[in-house]
Amino acid sequence: MKISAIEPFVVSHKLQREFYFSQWRYDTRTICLVKITCDNGTFGWGEGYGPAEIVKAGIEFFRPLLIGHGPLETENLWQLMYLRSLDYARRGILLSALSAIDVALWDLKGKILGQPVSVLLGGRRRQSVRTYATGMYFTETESMPETLAAEALGYKEQGFDAMKMKVGLNVEKDIENVAAVRQAIGPGIDLMIDANHAYSLTEATKLARAVEPYRISWFEEPVSPEYYASYSQLRETTSIPIAGGECEYLRFGFLRLFQQQCVDIAQPDICAAGGLTEVKRIADMACTFGVDLVPHTWGTGIAASAALHLIANIDMPGSRLNEAEALMELDRTENPLRDELVQPALSPHNGRLQVPNEPGLGVNVDENALGGYSVQD
Ligand code: CA
Repeated sequence: MKISAIEPFVVSHKLQREFYFSQWRYDTRTICLVKITCDNGTFGWGEGYGPAEIVKAGIEFFRPLLIGHGPLETENLWQLMYLRSLDYARRGILLSALSAIDVALWDLKGKILGQPVSVLLGGRRRQSVRTYATGMYFTETESMPETLAAEALGYKEQGFDAMKMKVGLNVEKDIENVAAVRQAIGPGIDLMIDANHAYSLTEATKLARAVEPYRISWFEEPVSPEYYASYSQLRETTSIPIAGGECEYLRFGFLRLFQQQCVDIAQPDICAAGGLTEVKRIADMACTFGVDLVPHTWGTGIAASAALHLIANIDMPGSRLNEAEALMELDRTENPLRDELVQPALSPHNGRLQVPNEPGLGVNVDENALGGYSVQD
């Protein structure tokens, strides 16, 4: 059996309602998917995180290396791509293209062997995974605190007992927003905040101290991912756990994050940091350093399913009779690329997702709908 085709597809959806966060505005979701097909017709799907046209170019760059190879050799194929990119792209978007291909190869491997990806990763520790709702972005509204509080309450009513909101507008507004959300959801729900590296160390320290009374489960990307020392310094001065890593790549990048004691929770994106092959290694390394791992997940049901299978498998640093519960990010913002183009849509029950039993990732792209979302050259 040989790889016979690698096809990238850029898909896009114009949002009904735009939203923003500390770095930029979203009025459209655009994602690069990849389909890898074998000479017997079996195929797998992957996706890359980041600017889709560049991910597509990256996939086309790697394609000639892989055509004709056996599809089961995920680590060997990973190494071929890694060595071809090392001189130019030790971090960054070419690794998103590598990641997209790697995820598609795992889906393909599962379909060839008739096994779910989580089983092929070494087995399932968990049959279902607790998720947290990602939402509470900024929108044009008369009262931001009220709007965010209403959205938070909606997630609670849907059964989520953990959720994450954006901060990073400015410290004073953030405090007001966090207070309103905590007031709305009550004390029993886990609440996380995410600044998308908006702040200096001084600002992040001020915000962390001010929101400590609101029982914040983690403060995500408080400062620039380049400021490793600021991460570790912030950890020294707040009781709130610090999360980060969605802008970090490969096990080599995460090694630095761990050695410098930057984070309590590491957040590699499977579709950017090196695919399932590499994030499995990063997960093992996180556990070796005693750091929790909750992958960053943003995109379609392919990215979410890849995260679900990995999280079902990973070791956790906490060890006791009632094992520490793994957690998965579930973006709840408007995205038909996640809920309609990829089927079945992942639908949590009481905030939990069942790990699919179907071969591969357990989701497929609706190819009849693909044309409607495709961006033409
Ligand atoms: Ca984030």
